[in-house]
Amino acid sequence: MSSIDEKLQDVYDEVLRRNPGEAEFHQAVREVLVSLGPVVSKRPEYVDAAVIRRICEPERQIIFRVPWVDDAGRVQINRGFRVQFNSALGPFKGGLRFHPSVYLGIVKFLGFEQIFKNSLTGLPIGGAKGGSDFDPKGHSDAEVMRFCQSFMTELIRDIGEYTDVPAGDIGVGGREIGYLFGQYKRITTRYESGVLTGKGLTWGGSQVRKEATGYGTVFFVSEMLQAAGESFDGKRVVVSGSGNVATYAIEKVHELGGTVVACSDSSGYVVDEDGIDVDILKEVKEVRRGRIADYAELRGGDVRLGQAGSIWDVPCDIALPSATQNELNGADAVTLVKNGVTIVAEGANMPATPEAIAVFDEAGVRFAPGKAANAGGVATSALEMQQNASRDSWTFEHTEERLAEIMRSIHDRCAETADEFGSPGNYVAGANIAGFVRVADAMLALGVI
Ligand code: NDP
Repeated sequence: MSSIDEKLQDVYDEVLRRNPGEAEFHQAVREVLVSLGPVVSKRPEYVDAAVIRRICEPERQIIFRVPWVDDAGRVQINRGFRVQFNSALGPFKGGLRFHPSVYLGIVKFLGFEQIFKNSLTGLPIGGAKGGSDFDPKGHSDAEVMRFCQSFMTELIRDIGEYTDVPAGDIGVGGREIGYLFGQYKRITTRYESGVLTGKGLTWGGSQVRKEATGYGTVFFVSEMLQAAGESFDGKRVVVSGSGNVATYAIEKVHELGGTVVACSDSSGYVVDEDGIDVDILKEVKEVRRGRIADYAELRGGDVRLGQAGSIWDVPCDIALPSATQNELNGADAVTLVKNGVTIVAEGANMPATPEAIAVFDEAGVRFAPGKAANAGGVATSALEMQQNASRDSWTFEHTEERLAEIMRSIHDRCAETADEFGSPGNYVAGANIAGFVRVADAMLALGVI
């Protein structure tokens, strides 16, 4: 694995010292610092003005109690988080994650990634992330509503259209955004649509927001293919996860002529050689809120249910890890390479471990990091804010074309920046450097903030 430039080593040491026990945050910072070596050689002011040290320290971190009453009348307690990392480019922006694994280190890794991702979109949005260790799975709609209302009752002090605009992530979809927005509206007595994104189409949402992260990831891969004179036609694709990102990535791969032969959830994976049927997947996941085994049962035929081994054992040309962080390790990467993978693009945030990325580099596999490949979600959230501010709503076709254009420009910016800084074809370096420079220049212009 590559190392950190000596001019930046003390920044990393300080991050380790000041944020003990936050392994995912350390991993995310390290990946960015490794890429910034060539930048600080050319632009020493980024070190002199402590821009990089400041970027590694969140502007504000909020942790709060979320008490709520379950259907049996018992009081339950969860913990809520919002890490407002950087607002040099615009209001804080980033999703909320509801999952039992959520703790400060996860929220900080996601918020840190979000700074550079949002910068790469070219849109005026800063970086943040939040969430709770609450698990919506296994709770009734009424319980989820009471939890969301209590969560918003606390979070409301720190968000707003010009301050901080949350959205969805793992465990937070249209249902949760609805309950959160309802409580915000009730407390403020204002219909401030721009305070949350991922809203329903009849109450301030944008066309394509639901599909945007998955579609955007596939548009990004399409640009990578085109740059090499290839296309999705006839390509075999594996997508991990079966949530928001995975479902719409699968849908778009099929539209562009590829076949997704496997997808998963935390209980296992399915292999469907005829191509995953997206309508059945939506029925299982979005309507019934079921498990991946229910897909195999509904689909029938030759669908294979895998519970041993890993989804990465399934041979493919293109892999799109779209479930969660560190879900694809070094050994998985070796198997994928052995089976002939040529492109890996992260639909999820940081799903590939550093060891896996090193294996792909070594084998010449083209690798797209999440902060570039999955930026279509937040970019379309910014388009939703734009529509809310102008009280307008665009058609599906127009919004999808804007998304495709944004993904094209992110791809080109990453590729050109990688060339400029001496790492042609390295999308990780390109994304980290291009994302960093825009934020860093804004921070320099704004003084010591
Ligand atoms: P969803 O909650 O809709 O789906 C998550 C999927 O990943 C589910 O299939 C879930 O399975 C699986 N999963 C979650 N945790 C684990 C785990 N520990 N092990 C195995 N599988 C797991 O979330 P999203 O699709 O919205 O998010 C997926 C990823 O994409 C996350 O990394 C998120 O940060 C990232 N992302 C999302 C964006 C968005 O717009 N939604 C934008 C940019 C990035 P199960 O149901 O069994 O838990």
